[in-house]
Amino acid sequence: MVEGIRIQIRAKLDYSWFIVCKIIIWDVIFGGILPSAEIITIGTELLLGEIQDTNTRFIARFLRNEGIDLFRTTMIGDNENRITSTVMESLSRSDIVITTGGLGPTVDDPTRNAIARAIGTELEFRTELWEQIKHRFERFGRIPTENNKKQAFIPMGATAIENAVGTAPAFYCRIDNGLVISLPGVPKELEYLLENQVKGILRTLFNNKYVIQTYVIHTSGIGESVIDEKIADLETLTNPTVGIVAYPGQTDIRITAKALNKKKAAKMISNIMDIITQRMGGFIFGFNEDTLDEVIAKLLLNLNIKVCLIEKGTDQLITQLLQKYNILVSDSEKSILGYTDSFEKNQENLYKLIYPNILLVTELSKTIDKSATLSIDYFHRNQRINKSFQFGGHDNLALTWAANTTMHFLRSQLIQS
Ligand code: ATP
Ligand code: MG
Repeated sequence: MVEGIRIQIRAKLDYSWFIVCKIIIWDVIFGGILPSAEIITIGTELLLGEIQDTNTRFIARFLRNEGIDLFRTTMIGDNENRITSTVMESLSRSDIVITTGGLGPTVDDPTRNAIARAIGTELEFRTELWEQIKHRFERFGRIPTENNKKQAFIPMGATAIENAVGTAPAFYCRIDNGLVISLPGVPKELEYLLENQVKGILRTLFNNKYVIQTYVIHTSGIGESVIDEKIADLETLTNPTVGIVAYPGQTDIRITAKALNKKKAAKMISNIMDIITQRMGGFIFGFNEDTLDEVIAKLLLNLNIKVCLIEKGTDQLITQLLQKYNILVSDSEKSILGYTDSFEKNQENLYKLIYPNILLVTELSKTIDKSATLSIDYFHRNQRINKSFQFGGHDNLALTWAANTTMHFLRSQLIQS
């Protein structure tokens, strides 16, 4: 299999004139090439589920900010043969391959050897790296072992990336059909090197002037499949791309645009936003960092009214979400008004007591078939609305669904006020 991929890579090398043309065309027309990348996270502990892979997410966001398309990510154990073939496969598909982990001095750190084999070369000892390693150990008052010497070996022709925050030197190898960058697994070291070293290397090598921008539209009160029907045509676009992410009681639409500068990307996003806003209308409650509770708080503060909230079966989740905004009728306010528990039984009387504030009573109950029902009783301006909603999703999600559905209901009433 490894030999097969090697043949593929050689075939790619034979067409290196094509790659050169691609670079020139992109450079002339668009002001930069459009590189694609893959991430390979290395470590048996990752595959065993002992530690969570946080490096992939960090690198993915880094690549997005640099305007580089991420095509695929792979997780692989500390096995030299498998790492070798994975790196070769990735190189046959993508321009940039970033690996993390397996650069330490121990036997189970096989990344250096694997990368040398994948690009058809061998490791070589670099005196200057050995000096750096010894120097770093000295600073920590320690003496490096013979094992540490392994870390001064990197693939022939590779460029060392100085690791100022750890002992394992990182490196990158340029080959005709791409670039392999090998970074340490320790998240702090990886993050430091991406920001302080890799960013500069990629910008120099790829002259990539693209930026990737993402904009998130938050909706509530409308299901994922209904949204999917409304924007199906937009979901097939390639730039910008439009995708849907569903949560209980909330659905987000993510627009991602790639352009030569932030202004152009923003324009592309706003064109799609206009279409989505027309189609989704009142179901949109916010954008990016906005949250439903924050939006409701703003509406209530503008209207200068509060909500007397009575929650049943929801573990006081809605109260917890809203109480930080000073928009709920507090217990002390209720006691000043002469509130007693008996008022809860007679909601009309309770409403008279807290008027002109809103009275909102919510109750989540489970039926025998385990589906959940949410009943809402709403009193405001001599108007009483009674509504119920059904949830067929997983038990664990019912509370969040009930909180979001109640807040969506409240928001739709408030925007009509
Ligand atoms: P070292 O010099 O410490 O051996 P290394 O480059 O060899 O560094 P690994 O040995 O693979 O890296 O991993 C070091 C530690 O970094 C792991 O024990 C783990 O805690 C963390 N780590 C490795 N990979 C990841 C990852 N993908 N996501 C989060 N943490 C990771
Ligand atoms: Mg290690």
